[in-house]
Amino acid sequence: MTIQSVNPRTGESFGPKFASTTAQALDEIVAASERACEVWSMMAADERGRILNAVADALDAHAEKLVEIADLETGLGKVRLTGEVGRTTFQIRSFATALIAGDFISPTVDAAVDGAPPQGHPKFLRTVRAIGPVAVFGASNFPFAFSVLGGDTASALAAGCSVVVKAHPAHPQTSQTTVDIAIKAMSDAGAPAGTLAIGHGFEFGKAIITDPRICAGAFTGSKAGGRALFDLAQSRPNPIPFYGELGSVNPVVVTESGLADPATFAGAYLDSLLMGNGQFCTNPGLLFVPENSEFLQALQEQLLLRDAGPFLSEATKVLHDKVRTALEEATGAKKVSGKAVDSLGFFSTPEILITSAGQMMKDPSKLSAECFGPTGIVITYSKVAEVISLLAHLEGALVGCLFAAPTDHSAVALVHALAKMSGRVAFNAWPTGVAVAAGQHHGGPYPASTSTLHTSVGIHAIERFLRPVTFQGFPDELYAAISHDSVKGK
Ligand code: NAP
Repeated sequence: MTIQSVNPRTGESFGPKFASTTAQALDEIVAASERACEVWSMMAADERGRILNAVADALDAHAEKLVEIADLETGLGKVRLTGEVGRTTFQIRSFATALIAGDFISPTVDAAVDGAPPQGHPKFLRTVRAIGPVAVFGASNFPFAFSVLGGDTASALAAGCSVVVKAHPAHPQTSQTTVDIAIKAMSDAGAPAGTLAIGHGFEFGKAIITDPRICAGAFTGSKAGGRALFDLAQSRPNPIPFYGELGSVNPVVVTESGLADPATFAGAYLDSLLMGNGQFCTNPGLLFVPENSEFLQALQEQLLLRDAGPFLSEATKVLHDKVRTALEEATGAKKVSGKAVDSLGFFSTPEILITSAGQMMKDPSKLSAECFGPTGIVITYSKVAEVISLLAHLEGALVGCLFAAPTDHSAVALVHALAKMSGRVAFNAWPTGVAVAAGQHHGGPYPASTSTLHTSVGIHAIERFLRPVTFQGFPDELYAAISHDSVKGK
């Protein structure tokens, strides 16, 4: 079985063929990863920070070449991809900076208390250790920022874990080239061999997550794929944490007070919905809008002016079209279409399905299907209570948004309803665009994430790969050696 790149703009295969990684090669990769982890995890944090900075520098130095390959494999366009390389190296440098500053973890030192329990106890030192080798699966739609050297890999390496990545078949050359550049930079900077490794193929993915030496999994991708891998991780004789960031239908609610300029609002909605051909996990899949003919008219007119973009792969197009047809049937919605498509590659005409809250209340479960591509659902409502009721029926989301005037009396109830089912709630902002910042939370109730307590973006992402350990009753002379600075830094 081999994997080859396909240009989504033309449907043509090109470039080298990658053989699926064999079981024997996997065994060697994981053995080396385990050995590397022993050394990498015990290196001083600022040393690891220095090496991560070298990786970021190397990726930046090769950005032009990486963007060229990724553009041919994904059709995402060089401007967007150049920005994504910058975001990726920014993420890596953020972890490096925090490691060098010693910002991550302050061990809890709990002095001994004389006397009988429950008041009395010995001296404790509660600290953290790298969890061990991590398997990382990236998504097709972010070939850099959520792929082989994305936030999952950067945070796991920062935590002191070695990483084995599974290349995405929709961008195998980008994956391999990125990892090759990073491995060379790490080796030149003094990282142990095997700290980062890559494998290809569907079977490799299943085998790596079930390998008993792998201690955690990190995944970005579809609900179906993430759930399958999560189940494998949990069904192992030794289950492991599996941090899956899956697909999401991100509801956006606009109230009367937020819809002061319906035509401009319609344009901004389409910008967010059709960005990257709608292939964003933070895509505004559902828009709740008060009954307003001016908005609907503007939406139809403006949609007709929008071009379709290429899908990331044939499989993505096929799945999108299937889900869209099912949604059309299930919602009985009115269809509004964009420009017709005339191309050999993987394209579909953008489309909005317009329905009402009253209609959707008959079977709200239909609204939770992610339609990954240029399709949106607009739900008109007459009362805010209808929106709150429908939100309560939705599955967990990465983001929920509210457009309203600050003085709008209905805003607070809507914010609470959105916060109940989302990892991030944005005010007068669209869901697309996830800033890499310490205050970010990119996750949410399932299926947005398989681990609702954790984020995959921002500095807190490292917490997924740091296992707490308490050292009890050690003499003072041993504490210094135990609380080594592999995580804490200086
Ligand atoms: P995907 O099809 O789930 O693929 C992701 C990875 O998982 C690939 O390497 C894939 O390998 C593997 N995989 C999928 N199903 C598997 C299974 N049953 N067993 C073993 N491995 C499996 O996702 P995608 O199409 O690349 O990405 C699009 C999805 O990602 C969308 O749903 C989007 O919303 C989501 N996404 C989420 C976030 C987030 O942060 N939450 C960010 C970006 C994208 P094979 O292809 O070899 O099967």
